[in-house]
Amino acid sequence: VDSATGRILVASDSFTGWAGFAVTDAVEEALGVPAFLDNDVNAFLYGEVSGGAVRGESDVLGMTLGTGVGGALWTGGALFAGPHGAAGEIGHIPGFGDLLCSCGGRGHLETLASGRSIGARYADRTGRRLTAREVAQAADRGDQDALAVYDAAGAGIAQAIVMTAGVVDITTVVVGGGVSRAWPLLEPLILTSLAADPPVSGHPVRLVRAALASDAVPVGAAARARQELTAKVGV
Ligand SMILES: [Zn+2]
Repeated sequence: VDSATGRILVASDSFTGWAGFAVTDAVEEALGVPAFLDNDVNAFLYGEVSGGAVRGESDVLGMTLGTGVGGALWTGGALFAGPHGAAGEIGHIPGFGDLLCSCGGRGHLETLASGRSIGARYADRTGRRLTAREVAQAADRGDQDALAVYDAAGAGIAQAIVMTAGVVDITTVVVGGGVSRAWPLLEPLILTSLAADPPVSGHPVRLVRAALASDAVPVGAAARARQELTAKVGV
């Protein structure tokens, strides 16, 4: 999305006909109130910073592990979207193997750590098709293939955190999305990799699970709108 103009720039094949659509114009016309547009991962991070697990923190990477892997960056106390709205998109940079990603690229973190990918990687190893949650349950029962899949996801997430810390020096990472429900399994795997390969700053990155669950996005959207409106009237 282009949050400056309130338009959808590019839409995946699950959002047919949305590319180019002026969302905020349509909403403002229908409701008669000001509207703002942002993507769901930015709103998630806005929510967790305004009232969730990283409340009041100034330098945070937000990651959502859902159907895909989303990323957003909060730096110097504000969301940093970059000139194309793509800052913090840690799920879609190469260097995480060579598997084909849903975006058409190869070797992206999403191929290891999204819910869909966790199911697919387990099927690669065993021929059995499970959901990410079922793979987590299998790992809890000691299934070595399931453990290996989550181990690879955890190592990939840690690598993404270290890369981000090296570029923009974050203090904290907040992880949400459906896959984070397996936090007791995932957290130690990420921490083990982070300990083995820490940020060059010498300061460990704090790793926290999102606190607002599915409320993070609407809470963040409200916080963003409030900030825009108070900025407009100069309060
Ligand atoms: Zn990708």
